[in-house]
This record gives sequence, structure tokens and C-alpha cells, in this order.
Amino acid sequence: MTNQQSQLSSIIQQVLNCRKCSLHKTRKNAVPGEGNPQAEIMLIGEAPGYWEDVKGRPFVGAAGKFLDTLLAEAELTRQKVYITNILKCRPPKNRPPQQAEIQKCTPYLDKQITTIKPKIIITLGNYATNYIFSKANIPFNGITQTHGKPYKAIILNLHMTLFPTFHPAAALHNPRYKKLLLEDFQKLKQILNQI
Ligand code: URA
Repeated sequence: MTNQQSQLSSIIQQVLNCRKCSLHKTRKNAVPGEGNPQAEIMLIGEAPGYWEDVKGRPFVGAAGKFLDTLLAEAELTRQKVYITNILKCRPPKNRPPQQAEIQKCTPYLDKQITTIKPKIIITLGNYATNYIFSKANIPFNGITQTHGKPYKAIILNLHMTLFPTFHPAAALHNPRYKKLLLEDFQKLKQILNQI
């Protein structure tokens, strides 16, 4: 096992045993994240939903199915990327993450970022984008204003490109977001060719 792989599995073990907030009481499984430890591309969602909590894996429900379509649009597969979330445990009834939960949970995300050292982070939705943009000291005015463009950033002392887009679950309720997400991932494909 490489040093990087053992660091990642240590983060996973810490998440699986985490009791830092009350979400551990209602979870079936924590969802640390998964993918290629050497990925140049990292995707960050909001929090596990029903099926993610059941299976302990990120984006395996309906939004995850659409995420696979989006990845294919950019000629990516799950094997090439690393996928994780802001919160590693499902909030009851999929309610939005609370600030205290984000504060307690994101040290795991920070460790995942410094271990994987991705060249590009794709943030899915408002919560992930807000967190990552604030780390990069970039003002964030909501995902509608921000999506579909690359931003050069320094996060945790790492130079990288940020690419914010909508959360794939938004497309399940509204065809407008489906179109915008598909367009964003087509743009992402061009950006990946340039990096
Ligand atoms: N929504 C998210 O934000 N993350 C998942 O893992 C699944 C659905």
C-alpha cells in the first residue's frame, strides 16, 4: 500500500467511527467517499441521501444515476475520479446540513483534499461550492451566478481549478437544471483537455 492509500484508508476508518455530531445516531452507514486515490478530479456533493446511507457509498440513488450520465458527458468514469460529500452522514429526512455539522465534518474533507491533491474540484450545488469558495477566499453569490466556469484557486496550499455546477438532484425535479448541468459537463470536458 502506498503512503497515500494508507492515509486515505485511515480517513475512511475515522469517518466510519465518527461520533462528532448527532448524525451518527440516525445513520445506517457513514459515507466517507470513494474513487481513484490518484484522481486528478474530485467531485464534492452535499450529504448522503437514503440509498447512500443504506449502501455506505456516495451517489448511488437517483441523483447518482444522473451523475453517471454527466460524467460520461465529460468522458469521465467513476474509476477516474474521487467522489465525496461535505457531510459524511445522512441528515434525517434529507434536511439541509447545519453549520455546526459542516464545521465538525469538513476536517475529513480537508484531509481527503490534501491527500489526493486533485487538479480540479467540481463542486455540486450551493453547500459544496460555498464551503470550497470560502476556503479559496473567493466570494460566492449562489450557484446560479457561479456555475459552469473554471476558477483558479489556492486551497489548503494547493493550486487547483474549481468548477462549480448545480447539484444533480436539482435536475430530477426541474428540466431547466438538467439542461444546464449537461451544458456544464460539456464545458468541463473542454476544460479538462486544457489542464
Ligand atoms: N446527494 C449528495 O449530495 N450526495 C450523495 O452522495 C447523494 C446524493
